[in-house]
Amino acid sequence: MEQQIKITKTANSKLKDIDFDNIPLGTTFTDHMFICEYKNGSWNNPRVEPLELIPTHPAAMALHYGQAIFEGMKATVGNENTPLLFRPEENAKRFNHSAARLGMPSVPVDLFVEAVKQIVGVEHNWIPPQDGSALYLRPFMYADEPFIGMRAATSYKFIVICSPAGPFFTKKIRLYAETEYIRAADGGTGEAKAAGNYAAAILPTEKAKAKGYDQVLWLDANEHKYIQEVGTMNIFFKIGGKFITPSTSGSILKGITRDSVISLLKDKGFEVEERPITIDELIGHAKEGKLEEAFGTGTAVAIAMIEAIGYKDEVLTLSNDNPVSQDVKNTLDGIKTQKIEDKFNWILPVSIEEKVG
Ligand SMILES: *Cc1c(COP(=O)(O)O)cnc(C)c1O
Repeated sequence: MEQQIKITKTANSKLKDIDFDNIPLGTTFTDHMFICEYKNGSWNNPRVEPLELIPTHPAAMALHYGQAIFEGMKATVGNENTPLLFRPEENAKRFNHSAARLGMPSVPVDLFVEAVKQIVGVEHNWIPPQDGSALYLRPFMYADEPFIGMRAATSYKFIVICSPAGPFFTKKIRLYAETEYIRAADGGTGEAKAAGNYAAAILPTEKAKAKGYDQVLWLDANEHKYIQEVGTMNIFFKIGGKFITPSTSGSILKGITRDSVISLLKDKGFEVEERPITIDELIGHAKEGKLEEAFGTGTAVAIAMIEAIGYKDEVLTLSNDNPVSQDVKNTLDGIKTQKIEDKFNWILPVSIEEKVG
């Protein structure tokens, strides 16, 4: 299906005001957005237009009942300044998985990918050229039908906005293993990138920060024992030479970076186990000196090395040396900028010949 996406360009680009060496985190947006509306069972009028405020009815259902989901992706630049996307169909599929869980309509994978390609084609000059920088893309959908009452909305907006991002979290992170609050329970929405999941994580994250940590390490809802994931990252441990990452049991977000890192580690000859792992097992390995490396994976940060994990009254200090994690990070960064061969076929080049229509 070839989507006819109409492009209307701004006469006043803000690009000239941007200092790519100094991009404030999450507050800079590009000139345009992709937008389309769902009504009467179909997506209508897909278009790229100047980014502007969206009038919202005070009864818009997303504001009351939280029918809102999102994705996170990055566009980078490769050889000959070609804009590149990383596994965009995977984001499209996950978006629809999230939509299904929240009773929202799906967006055809072709429309999702075409939307992202078109906005990146228009905004390619906003992709920061610096190493480790990228144009962060935020596709999202929310219920905009004005209605008081509990049912699935009948109208939605699907939008993609873009924000240039410098290298995120280059420092090592400190995690606080949370034993009071939970992120997701079996049967809940943990596997969806649902806005409400992040609302529920704000208070515990603020409390962890007040204790001197960067992020929460989430444990399972039933026993507060099994390690799940971190803020917006999945987690990996290197224990006695092999890697372990929690299996995605239905309450863990299935990270695309997680999936890519599993492939890269296997390709580099490591064994990777996807299985439940408790915080006590981890501490036991650490005490025996077998916990060699630990890192989080996610689109925003790619790979973030973990420096320490706080659990109850203990603080586990991890090795400063993360040779394999660093190597995997370099490989992933290299693939995303075409400095390393893309043998898994993860990269999608974007044409910058904009269709004007
Ligand atoms: C987005 C996200 C991740 C990472 O997913 P990627 O596809 O690798 O970006 C992990 N956990 C949570 C809770 C997330 O929201």
